[in-house]
Amino acid sequence: MPKTYSIAIDGPAGAGKSTIAKRLAKELGYCYVDTGAIYRTVAYFFDLWGVAPKDIDGITRYIDELNIAIEYDEEGTQHMIMNGMDVTADIRTQEISQKASLISAHAIVREMLLDMQRDVAKTHNVIMDGRDIGTVVLPKANVKIFLTASAEVRAQRRTDELLAKGQKANYNQILKEIQQRDYQDTHREVAPLKLARDSIKVDTSNLDIDGVIAELKRIIGEKIPL
Ligand code: C5P
Repeated sequence: MPKTYSIAIDGPAGAGKSTIAKRLAKELGYCYVDTGAIYRTVAYFFDLWGVAPKDIDGITRYIDELNIAIEYDEEGTQHMIMNGMDVTADIRTQEISQKASLISAHAIVREMLLDMQRDVAKTHNVIMDGRDIGTVVLPKANVKIFLTASAEVRAQRRTDELLAKGQKANYNQILKEIQQRDYQDTHREVAPLKLARDSIKVDTSNLDIDGVIAELKRIIGEKIPL
C-alpha cells in the first residue's frame, strides 16, 4: 500500500476547523474528513428513534440498527449516509449539535466509529478534524494541530455566519451553547477534547482565514513534503 499522510486538526466548537480543513484539503489535494458530522449522524438517528442522548440503555439496544457511511461527491464534499439516506443537511441544527455533544460521550458510540475513521486514513491522504483525532483516532498523524479561539470570538463568528445566511442568531444564546459544549467535550471520561502531547496549538482569535491557512501551511510544510 502506498504511504499516506495524515493531518489531525482538533479543537473546540466554532474554532474554524472545518472551514480551514476544507480549504487546506483542496489546496493540498487531500481528502477532508469531518468527524463531527459522523457524531451528528448518530445523534440524528437516535433523535428520530426517540432515544434521549443520555439514555445509554436505549442507545445500547438500538445501536446495531444504525448503519453509517461516508460518501464524497465529485466536488469532494462529504455526505453522511444514515441507513441509506443522505442526512448531510439535516444534521446541521443547534439541537443536533447539543445532542451530538452528549451522545459522543458514550464509549459504545465512540468504539463503533473508530475503525471507520481510521480506515479512510489508511488508504487516503487525509485532513481529519474533530476532538480526539490526534489523541485517539490517529495518534501517529504526521501533523497535529489544535485550533482554538476564545469562546467569545467563536460565538461572534457563529453569530455572523448565521446572520449572513439570513437566519436568526442570538449572540448570548450561542455563547452559552458553545461554553456548554466546551465543558461537555473536555470533561467526558472517554476521549475528551485535549491537547495531544505533540500537537501544535494555533490560536485564531486574532487571525483571519487567510492568516490561519498561511500559518498551518507553514507548520505542515515543516513535517510533510507539500
Ligand atoms: O465538530 P462538530 O461541532 O460538528 O461536532 C459535534 C459534536 O460531536 C462535538 O461537540 C463533539 O462532542 C462530538 N465530536 C467528538 N469527537 C470528534 C468530533 C466530534 O466527540 N472527533
